[in-house]
Amino acid sequence: MNKDILRKMFDNPPPKVGIPAAKAIPRISPGRVPYSHEELENHLQKYLAMIKAKGADDARIINCRNIPQDPRVLLKCSHPKCPGYGVSGSCPPHCGGDFQKAKEYLKAYTWAIVYRVNIPAEGRKYICGPDSLLCYSTKEGRHRLGSFQRYCHGMGDEVESAAFYDGHYFAINLHFGPCLTSLCEEFDHCQEIKAGVCRFPTLAKPSVEQTFCIDLIRLATNIGWEHYIMGFCPQPQDFPPEFVSYFIGLILIE
Ligand code: SF4
Repeated sequence: MNKDILRKMFDNPPPKVGIPAAKAIPRISPGRVPYSHEELENHLQKYLAMIKAKGADDARIINCRNIPQDPRVLLKCSHPKCPGYGVSGSCPPHCGGDFQKAKEYLKAYTWAIVYRVNIPAEGRKYICGPDSLLCYSTKEGRHRLGSFQRYCHGMGDEVESAAFYDGHYFAINLHFGPCLTSLCEEFDHCQEIKAGVCRFPTLAKPSVEQTFCIDLIRLATNIGWEHYIMGFCPQPQDFPPEFVSYFIGLILIE
């Protein structure tokens, strides 16, 4: 079981550039706008069930007023620099970077789905410890990071799409990390930075850190998801045996 999830999580193919074939487009019935309060409640419950069916291990409906923001989130990209800093059009300094705007953007939303994807113990070495630096220095490591982003973002993107067609046309599933690995894994540079045109205009999202300045660690612990600091220094075996590492995802709905 873990082997199957590990493969899906850390070894899946990057998307192909170009317009997708018409038959690859899923059929989704359009929702009516405006929707009623009862319909909104049903939609949120539907998204909760949907994200769990897609592979999330836990998910909650939260009021956006309970999502903590912090201007220091902006500093975490650039001081010291994240290895992904400056390499993608969706990451700083090419995108976002304004706390006042981040507050205005989040204030415009009321409801969100926060979801959690547990990482099998065998996969922890890919996201923390010295070996996780391979994500930035080898082709195999880059593929693992890109696969992990695609696996976790992908399930939220499907919910975002469902929400859009239900009438929540500002719904957005937040992405983390550089899209040079999640989408442009097969390329050595960002086309948007070089030529002003993104290779994946319908898939690339601005980095959540820069756009919404959300303190995800505080959000996770506020809802009861225990967290230990991940990074390049702790070895995978340095965490308590009962602790399960996880990815946290967030879809702003309404
Ligand atoms: S071209 Fe690739 S790396 Fe650049 S913004 Fe688009 S998806 Fe991201």
